Amino acid sequence: MSVLVYIENTEGQFKKSAFEAVSYGKAVADQLQTEVIAISIGTVKEDELQKLGGYGATRVLNVSTDNLSSFVNQAYASIVATAAQKENASVVVLSNTFSGKGLAPRVAAKLSAGIVSGASALPQINGDTFEVQTSAFSNKAIATVSVQSAMKVLTINPNAFASKETGGSATIEAYTPDIPSTDFSTTVQEIVRATDTISLPEAEIVVSAGRGLKGPENWGMIEELAKVLGAATACSKPVSDAGWRPHSEHVGQTGIVVSPNLYIAIGISGAIQHLAGVSSSKTIVVINKDPEAPFFKVADYGIVGDAFVVVPKLIEALKKHKG
Ligand code: FAD
Repeated sequence: MSVLVYIENTEGQFKKSAFEAVSYGKAVADQLQTEVIAISIGTVKEDELQKLGGYGATRVLNVSTDNLSSFVNQAYASIVATAAQKENASVVVLSNTFSGKGLAPRVAAKLSAGIVSGASALPQINGDTFEVQTSAFSNKAIATVSVQSAMKVLTINPNAFASKETGGSATIEAYTPDIPSTDFSTTVQEIVRATDTISLPEAEIVVSAGRGLKGPENWGMIEELAKVLGAATACSKPVSDAGWRPHSEHVGQTGIVVSPNLYIAIGISGAIQHLAGVSSSKTIVVINKDPEAPFFKVADYGIVGDAFVVVPKLIEALKKHKG
């Protein structure tokens, strides 16, 4: 028996969510008294693969062939499912990222496994039954999902489970499973990078702004604050609807759901539909000139003040602090 963790890379580098997934897999494996095996697909250098050992993987299956350097959903699913069978895995863990969300149901179908999407905590394990908490109804409720199938596929939300270094090391093994050519009926022709900024769903810090900013010409200070903090930028729905910011930055019930360590909301009222996408953030800081703004009710720290005065001072203070 083993726990298999699919590790995603971006241009050969593992993101934070990859280490969170290995740590989650390690914690599940410890409960099952078994080992955690990582599988990486694409071109990743040996020293990057080695990092997975430091988070608890004992072995890393490295699938590196030219036609797999870009994400091909069907082929990747076949590889992960085949590896799970080969390694006698009873649990497959993936990050609940864009590709993880696409891959997990295919892997589960191939393995006739029960699936839990968007786990926010470790499972309670009782024999063959896993009870796993997930966020439901745009984070307004927590659902406990019970899975009884022998094989289980779990996806975990980025930032929901902290990665933990174990100081271990892993053996790297080349793995070249046979993949049917029909798995390549859809292939990636070209990847065009839309932006160089930090990916919003996985960001540890998010600087978000709303209609209180008055217009797109005032976003310079939001971008500067985000840059100083190493944060991703986000916005409320009316802001993206008005074309002040791209729709990819819209958070909330009808946008992206984020759960960073720090969410800074500037000139956003805190409507329930906005909160639905941000309320699982660990720390919420609100900057709003209206002391009655609903956002203050869920804030850990609040600054009542004009964003055009507060934000530049914050940037200045952070720059000084950084030296
Ligand atoms: P406003 O409500 O106009 O608030 C602006 C805030 O800025 C105010 O609190 C004001 O006090 C403050 N302010 C003004 N000037 C300053 C200043 N100089 N300094 C500091 N503060 C200032 N919204 C989302 O965001 N995400 C969603 O996913 C979403 N989905 C929706 C789905 C449905 C079905 C519906 C009906 C609505 C949805 N909405 C969503 C819209 C939501 O109800 C609110 O209308 C929206 O979140 C408000 O955006 P806002 O806070 O930027 O603007």
